[in-house]
Amino acid sequence: MFAIRLSFAFGVVMLIIKWYAYYLTGSSAILSDAVESIIHIIGVGFAVFSMWYSFQPADEEHTYGHQKISYFSAGFEGALIILAAVYIIYISIKRLIVGVEISNLDQGVLFTFIASVINLILGVYLVWKGKKTNSIILVANGKHVLTDSWTSFGVVGGLLLTWLSGWHPFDPIVAIAAALNILWSGGKLVRQSIGGLMDEGDKNLAGSIKKILDKETLSKGLEYHLLRFRKSGNIVWIEFHLLLPKGILLEDAHKIATELESTIKNNLNSQVNIITHLEPLEIHDELHTELHK
Ligand SMILES: [Zn+2]
Ligand SMILES: [Zn+2]
Ligand SMILES: [Zn+2]
Repeated sequence: MFAIRLSFAFGVVMLIIKWYAYYLTGSSAILSDAVESIIHIIGVGFAVFSMWYSFQPADEEHTYGHQKISYFSAGFEGALIILAAVYIIYISIKRLIVGVEISNLDQGVLFTFIASVINLILGVYLVWKGKKTNSIILVANGKHVLTDSWTSFGVVGGLLLTWLSGWHPFDPIVAIAAALNILWSGGKLVRQSIGGLMDEGDKNLAGSIKKILDKETLSKGLEYHLLRFRKSGNIVWIEFHLLLPKGILLEDAHKIATELESTIKNNLNSQVNIITHLEPLEIHDELHTELHK
């Protein structure tokens, strides 16, 4: 929780720096950064709430826990970012048509540069912390902050170009380029959240689970099928049918299944929940055929 709160606090600092820089210069490129900083705070605010909510244990209303909120968080943040980008492009095209009035470019460059550096450090920290704690909310937020940092560095470059060349239309052109970058990062967040909400399969994870299952069942002379899994935040839910020799004692079957489940859990580096459905190997084909089409 500390990291996401820190991100929120820096979001507020960025908002002040960027709007002050816009107030000084009237630059479209800086405005694009400043508009994003408002959206940014709303997005991070929602991420703070989501983080807290995702930590709440499962209850009667949400028997699978509350982790899925993280996909809403990412999707909401992405949608806001897309809105900001569209607004920036609109403003910039308007300025290209009616003309550009900018002043105090040197101070604008300085403030925006400071903002870029702060965001770069913050973004690297958030991604590092998120990967360490397996938190997709933190990683998404860190990547977002890094995108903002690159956008600001781009704005600094554009402002320097405008300043050195004295050709003002450079400014809205750079703003449009920055907006396209923002649009791209927003699109990626939305894409990621749809994937999570739709339980989109993860090829790497599927590969790891199958590898463990193949190895373990082969060595024990068992079989498995109908493997399914889905992720809810950083928790993985796995289910499959496990085929054991018919006539085996229930307690032996349970022991084998439990051992297999522990092996899978120990080999995946996420929190894992597994449900196995036990079936007799030899007469399997005659049983509940509706499950095995
Ligand atoms: Zn942002
Ligand atoms: Zn089966
Ligand atoms: Zn059991």
